[in-house]
Amino acid sequence: MVDRQNRVGSKFGGGGVSSAQQSERERKDRLRELALETIDLAKDPYLMRNHLGTYECKLCLTLHTNEANYLSHTQGKKHQAGLARRAAMEAKIARQKGETDVMLPLRATTSLTSSQTKVKIGRPGYEVSKSRDPDTNARCLTFELHYPELDDARTRQPRHRFMSAYEQRVETPPDGNYQYLLIACEPYETVGFKIPNEKIDKGEGRFVTHWDVEAKVFTLTLHFLG
Ligand SMILES: [Zn+2]
Repeated sequence: MVDRQNRVGSKFGGGGVSSAQQSERERKDRLRELALETIDLAKDPYLMRNHLGTYECKLCLTLHTNEANYLSHTQGKKHQAGLARRAAMEAKIARQKGETDVMLPLRATTSLTSSQTKVKIGRPGYEVSKSRDPDTNARCLTFELHYPELDDARTRQPRHRFMSAYEQRVETPPDGNYQYLLIACEPYETVGFKIPNEKIDKGEGRFVTHWDVEAKVFTLTLHFLG
């Protein structure tokens, strides 16, 4: 399947250019400049140069006459949607394999000795998302934990704490590149997330927890400093 609009040799029609077309072209030029600054073509896994000397997008199966045309394509809806689909698929596969690149859930055993005799009702469901602050580019993690079976959500709410690699007893040998974020809410099991051992921004609005009593969902958002 090849996108006809991007076939080699296709050109804009000649003749007068309306102001709408003009501004659209200027917009594309700006996008192209932006793309040229931020994309390293050598590292783009979807760009392929074919034997005719033109370029192909392996993600969208489109043809492009030159690098700039390809870059412009990468800023378009079709390619962006393709990237989003691919990312969602990879995240799903990673979840099925029980891994993500910076963190993994683990059972926390430290500091639970007093409550280990109580009946546990399993782990809460959770989602972790990574993003970047649009202004400072600081890395941001959001943890969302679900406690649907909790009876007394109004009086009991999840608590969190950070633990160093040397304090925890689950992973040996300890790896000082990581720290652990523990989230506890009995009778659920405490879960621990392994995150980079970097300073966490405790400034206003930078570290936020929220307990939704109705939905029984706990959300924690954190930003790393620097
Ligand atoms: Zn593409």
